Amino acid sequence: MAKKQFQAESKRLLDMMINSIYTHKEIFLREIISNASDADDKLYYKGLSEKITGIKRDDFTINIEADKNARTLTISDNGIGMTKDQLYNDLGVIAKSGSFDFKDGLDSSNDDDAKDEQKKKDTDASKDIDIIGQFGVGFYSAFMVAKHVEVISKAYGSDEAYKWASDGADGYTVQECEKSENGTDVILTLKDDTDEEKYGQYLEEWTLKDLVTKYSDYIRYPITMMCEKSKVKEGTEGRKDDKGKDIPPEYEHYSELDTLNSMVPLWKRRKSDIKDEDYNNFYKDKYYDNVDPQKVIHTNVDGVISYSALLFIPGRAPYDYYSKNYEKGLQLYSSGVKIMDKCADLLPDYFSFVKGLVDSQDLSLNISREMLQHDRQLQAIEQRLEKKIRSELLDMQEKDREGYEKFWKNFGLQLKFGIYENFGMKKDVLQDLLMFYSSTEKKLTTLKEYVARMAPDQKEIYYAAGENIEKIDQLPQTEMIKDKGFEILYLTDSVDEFTLKAMMAYDEKQFKSISDEDIDLGETDEEKSAAEEQEKSSLDLLTFIKNSLGDKVTDVKLSQRLKSHPVCLTTKGGISLEMQKVIQAMPEGSNPEIKASIVLEINAKHPIMKTLEDAYENDKDKLKSYADILYTEALLIEGMPIDDPVAFSNEVCDLMTEK
Ligand code: ADP
Repeated sequence: MAKKQFQAESKRLLDMMINSIYTHKEIFLREIISNASDADDKLYYKGLSEKITGIKRDDFTINIEADKNARTLTISDNGIGMTKDQLYNDLGVIAKSGSFDFKDGLDSSNDDDAKDEQKKKDTDASKDIDIIGQFGVGFYSAFMVAKHVEVISKAYGSDEAYKWASDGADGYTVQECEKSENGTDVILTLKDDTDEEKYGQYLEEWTLKDLVTKYSDYIRYPITMMCEKSKVKEGTEGRKDDKGKDIPPEYEHYSELDTLNSMVPLWKRRKSDIKDEDYNNFYKDKYYDNVDPQKVIHTNVDGVISYSALLFIPGRAPYDYYSKNYEKGLQLYSSGVKIMDKCADLLPDYFSFVKGLVDSQDLSLNISREMLQHDRQLQAIEQRLEKKIRSELLDMQEKDREGYEKFWKNFGLQLKFGIYENFGMKKDVLQDLLMFYSSTEKKLTTLKEYVARMAPDQKEIYYAAGENIEKIDQLPQTEMIKDKGFEILYLTDSVDEFTLKAMMAYDEKQFKSISDEDIDLGETDEEKSAAEEQEKSSLDLLTFIKNSLGDKVTDVKLSQRLKSHPVCLTTKGGISLEMQKVIQAMPEGSNPEIKASIVLEINAKHPIMKTLEDAYENDKDKLKSYADILYTEALLIEGMPIDDPVAFSNEVCDLMTEK
């Protein structure tokens, strides 16, 4: 019979499995049991939602059978089964193609390092471990321990059964076969033992029992296995010989079908009985992470609507978190029956990093995806979860600052997007979770803490935006503000300024960019009128410079905010230079007409003023050059591209070679 080839990506994953040096090969059992449990779930759910009589929860099982002679391990379920097409499609094509985007990323970044063979081998191995750990690999993990795999399946309601068989990467066959009941048998012929790896252990009763309790204890269907038992033979107990000495009893051996798992889902167990390790293992197994969650939220709510929720905040951002591929959602259970794997409606986008599940007896099983969106109960649960997640995060912020900073590093961006995308409407939920770098504290600070430190005469919350902390710290505009003792928030993510604009104010204090043209630094009335006087007397000079720069700037004025620097750029209106940079970097739908309205500010107290005044009196052409140079300097300081670098360089050279 002709072999069908695996789809290219599947083949790569298979190759990886077959040659894997992954040390936890044992997880194959968990993966296959989990598929079996899903298959049982699907049929049970179908029975309930289509009101099929005769499908009872108690009838579902998962059975394990080890045959040491044949060296086979069989895992059987009596669930929904697979049709011929499904055997081709579900087992021949890998579903988790995301893992390969990730692997490709690793390939390109690591190749340069892998100079010699050994090093390359090491990196390959660690890549493979990373992928297995991060994604779980489902059915194919069978090939880590088996040299031959057969899947015999009969779909519920079908008369035919089919057998899928494969020795690994060289393809697979599917042919009709006999099977009386619906469901699936996965039959693994284990690899031969090697010095490093004893595959035969997976045929031992105690290993299998151990693995089931370790990884699959909470599976809601009984996982059964024939177990060896022995008991004292009747009538052989308490015997004594002629001399009155005890005769040991005789034992007889027999087999009995045992249920290996406790079947109580973790979230239904008493919290006091659950160890951190239980939560962590559950999280890592279910959500394919190899890092412990940073926070576990386990709540049971009784009331108008009752539910249990088990939520996790991952210890790191999933590799695709900030990409389109990432899908948010929680698993949804109705009285212990899984009705949806990723219910997006349970989580607002800004908490999309949360993983976990919700189990409620108040949800109808028959609910469809479309109906879910309008389901009142579900909306009520969502609102409560949102509150709960928020309060747990605030709690962490207060009691475990280091932990919160780690969380913030992983997911803070998402919270800031949350405010921006909702046009500030979710401000009340999110504003206290935000953190920014503080110029005075030299670390991340919350807005609440900032406001508490504000001087009585400080009216606004100052911020400065730029590429990184160091660059912002050097901005000329910050100097005077720092001198006055005011604290500045340094914004380094491109969304930051948009977020603050969307919020407008915090605790009735407006946010103010230090590059805003009309910043009020609490000058006295005398200072203000002196500045106005000076501005007036320099009006002709400033107008000349403005005209010479043309529409590059909307205004040229004297600056009182500068200290040691000669010039800076500020902006009028809603759009700052940083925002302009962000808007212009957007690929499509961006609006090149959206531009900041730029003001060139010249330091009124800087010696350069004298030079400019002299040039205005004596050499207008030179003043034009000066104007260009100052403007270009200001652009450079802001980290903006300059319009014509060659012209700039020529202008500077001309000045240096003054005749
Ligand atoms: P995943 O379970 O994450 O989708 P797998 O590689 O483990 O990925 O399985 C691929 C698919 O094969 C499953 O989604 C399911 O449709 C099907 N499948 C695997 N095992 C069984 C089974 N015991 N009964 C029915 N379908 C199964």
